[in-house]
Amino acid sequence: MRLDKRWWLLMGLVLLLALFFGLDLGRFLSLAAIKSSQADLQAWRAGQPVLAALLFFVGYVAVTALSLPGAAAMTLAAGALFGLGWGTLIVSFASSLGATLAFLAARWLLGGWVQSRFGDRLAALNAGIEKDGGFYLFTLRLVPVLPFFVINLVMGVTTLRTWTFYWVSQVGMLAGTLVYVNAGTQLARIESLSGIVSPGVLGSLALLGVFPLVTRKAVEMFQARKVYARFEKPARFDRNLIVIGGGSAGLVTAYIAAAIKAKVTLVEKHAMGGDCLNTGCVPSKALIRSAKFLSHVQRAKEFGMRGATVDFDFGEVMERVQRVIQEIEPHDSVQRYTALGVDVAQGTARIVSPWAVEITHHDGRVQTLTTRAIVVAAGARPFVPPIPGLASLGPHELLTSDNVWQLRQRPERLVVLGGGPIGSELTQTFARLGSKVTQVEMLPRILVREDPEVSELVAERFRAEGITVLTGHKAVRVQGGGLEKVLVVEADGHEKHIPFDAILVAVGRVANLKGYGLEELGVTTGRTVDVNGYLQTNFPNIYAAGDVAGPYQFTHTAAHQAWYAAVNALFDPFKKFRADYRVIPWATFVEPEVARVGLNELEAKEGKIPYEVTVYGLDDLDRAIADSEAHGFVKVLTVPGKDRILGVTIVGEHAGDLLAEYVLAMKHSIGLNKILGTIHTYPTLAEANKYAAGNWKRAHAPQALLAWVERFHAWRRG
Ligand SMILES: Cc1cc2nc3c(=O)[nH]c(=O)nc-3n(C[C@H](O)[C@H](O)[C@H](O)COP(=O)(O)OP(=O)(O)OC[C@H]3O[C@@H](n4cnc5c(N)ncnc54)[C@H](O)[C@@H]3O)c2cc1C
Repeated sequence: MRLDKRWWLLMGLVLLLALFFGLDLGRFLSLAAIKSSQADLQAWRAGQPVLAALLFFVGYVAVTALSLPGAAAMTLAAGALFGLGWGTLIVSFASSLGATLAFLAARWLLGGWVQSRFGDRLAALNAGIEKDGGFYLFTLRLVPVLPFFVINLVMGVTTLRTWTFYWVSQVGMLAGTLVYVNAGTQLARIESLSGIVSPGVLGSLALLGVFPLVTRKAVEMFQARKVYARFEKPARFDRNLIVIGGGSAGLVTAYIAAAIKAKVTLVEKHAMGGDCLNTGCVPSKALIRSAKFLSHVQRAKEFGMRGATVDFDFGEVMERVQRVIQEIEPHDSVQRYTALGVDVAQGTARIVSPWAVEITHHDGRVQTLTTRAIVVAAGARPFVPPIPGLASLGPHELLTSDNVWQLRQRPERLVVLGGGPIGSELTQTFARLGSKVTQVEMLPRILVREDPEVSELVAERFRAEGITVLTGHKAVRVQGGGLEKVLVVEADGHEKHIPFDAILVAVGRVANLKGYGLEELGVTTGRTVDVNGYLQTNFPNIYAAGDVAGPYQFTHTAAHQAWYAAVNALFDPFKKFRADYRVIPWATFVEPEVARVGLNELEAKEGKIPYEVTVYGLDDLDRAIADSEAHGFVKVLTVPGKDRILGVTIVGEHAGDLLAEYVLAMKHSIGLNKILGTIHTYPTLAEANKYAAGNWKRAHAPQALLAWVERFHAWRRG
C-alpha cells in the first residue's frame, strides 16, 4: 500500500511532537530555564551574533510551526538577547513564518476534508472569509488572549489566502510582539509570564483588536454619507416607508410595515397583485388545471371508461382564467390593504431623492412624499431576445407571459421558445388545449437546472403527448412576410423551418430597473438591483426585494425577502437581519410535476460536496398505482453515512405538495430517521417520503450487528 504524502507529513509531525514531549524538551523553553541560563546565552550571543540570531530564528520558526508551547518564553528571550529592535524584527518574521507553516500544514492535512465535508454549512463562513477574512484575522491577532496556535490551525481550514494570512499575521502580531520583547529586555525582573500582560495592557490590546472593526464601520458610514452628499435630508418625514410596486414583494412589505404600526405608502402603477396574480402564477395554474382536465378525458380508458369526449371553447377556458384571477383579486386589493392600514397609491412612483418619492396618480395628481426608507419591489418582465424578424410579428403572433392571457383564439401551431419552467408549463398546457406545439430550447435539455433524468422524464411525457421538443436548437430568425410565418432554427450547422401561427417567448425575465429614478439617483444595478445580505442598496435606506433584486424569481422568495426588507428598513440601525436563503423550495407545474429543495446531483458535483443518493420510485406506491399516476420518483441527497438531508427532488403527481415535508425537515434539521419514524396516512402520495427514508435506512442497516442478531434468533430456536 502506498501512503499518501499527507500521511508522511502527519507521521513526521507526530514523531517530532512525540520527541519533544517524550524528551521533555519543553523544560528548556520555560521562563525559569531561560532566566537561569540568561548569562550564558548572552555571552554566546555576544561571541557569535549572526549565528545566534540565525539559530534563534530557526528555533522560533520550528516552535511556532509545530504549535509547541514555549513561543511566549522565546519572545522574552529575544528581548533579553537581541534587544528591543533586533528582537522584535527576528520574532516578528519568525513567528509569522512559523504561523504560516502551521496554517499550511493544517490546510494540507485537513482543509480539503473539512471543506468537502462541511462545505455546504461553511458556505456563509467562506463567503465571510472571502470578503472580510483579513479583518477577522487582524482582530484575532491583536488580542493575544486567544491562543496563537489555535488561530493558525483554524484559519488553515478556511479558504483564507496564504499571503493574506501571512501579512495580516505579521502586522497584527506586531503590538503583542513589542510588548513581550520589551518585557524581555528586563528579563531578570520578570517573575511569571502572566505578569507581563497586566489587565491594563490586555485591555489596550483588546481595544486595538476592536479597532479594525470600528474602522470598517467608520469607512462604511463614510461611504454611505458620500452617496447621500448630493441630497438634502428632510428634517421630518411624511412616511416611515414607501414601497414601489404592489406585487408579491411589495404587498408583503407593506403588510408587515402596517402590522408593526409604521406609516407606509404602497405605490402600484398597474394592477395590484403584480405578475403573480395577473400574468404569472395564478393564470398559469388556472389554465394548467383546465388542460389537466382535458388530459384526463383523453386518458379515460386508463380509468376504466370506454371513452370520453369533451366539448370546449378555447376562449371560454381563457375566460375562466380571468374569473379565477377575479376571485383571488380581493386578497391583493386596494380595499384590503387600506383596511390593513396601508396607504395605497394607484399611480407611478419615481424616486427623486433617497428620502423622497414622486407619485403620479392615475387621476393626474402629482404628489411628492418624504420617507425615511424606500423598498423597491418593481418586479421583472419577459425578456424578448433580438431575433431578426421577431419584432415585426403582430400582437397575437408574438406572445409572452404578459399578453398570452388575452388570447381568445387558440393558435393552431404554436412555437414556444424556452425550456425553462414557464416555457415548459405553457408548452404542455397549450398542447393539451389542442395547439400543435413545438418547444425550442438552445441548451441540450429542457429544465436544465434539474438533474438530467428529470428533464428526460418530462421531455418523454411531452413527446408522448404529441409535443415536438427540439433541444440543442437555436432560433435564428423569423421569416415570411405573407400568411405563412416560419421560425428558422439551427442545430449542428443545419437549419430547420418551423411554420407557426404564434410564437411564445419564454427565455427568461429581466428586472425592471429603468424609468423610476434608480439611474438618476445612482443606485447600483447589474442584471438586478445590487443588494447586500440585508437587501440594502448602495443607499442604505433604500432596499429592494422580489424579482427586481433576485437571485430567485418566485412569489414565495419575494414574500420571504419582503419580511427582511420591511423589518430592516424600519429598524436599521438598531437591528437588522440577514436574509436567510438556506432552504428554498420550488416547483415546476408540468406533468409529471417537478419539485425541489436544496441540492440536486448536478449542484452537489459542481460544488464538490460529497453526497449519497437514495431513490424511491413512485411506480411502487399503492396510492399512485390506484390513481393511475405510478410514475416519477423521490430522490434524496444526504451527507455520506448520515441521515442529514442535503436536497430533495420529487418528480410525480403533486410533487410540489409532497416536498413540503422535506422543506420542513431541512429547515429544522430533521433527518431521514425521524421521517421514517413518523406515521404517514395510508394510502397517500405522502407515504413516498417515508418509503424514501426507508430505502435510505435499509442501505445503512448495521450488517455486522444483524449477523449477530441472526445468530441470537438461531440460538433461541434451539
Ligand atoms: C407565467 C408565470 C408563471 C409563474 N409561476 C410561478 C409559480 O408557480 N410560483 C412562483 O412562486 N412564482 C411564479 N412566477 C414568478 C412570480 O410571478 C414572480 O416571482 C413574482 O410575481 C415576483 O413578485 P414581485 O413583487 O417581485 O414583482 P411583480 O409581481 O412583478 O410586481 C412588481 C409590481 O411593481 C409595479 N411597478 C413597477 N414599477 C413601478 C413604479 N415605478 N411605480 C409603481 N409601481 C411599479 C408593477 O406594475 C408590478 O405590479 C411565475 C411567473 C410567470 C411570468
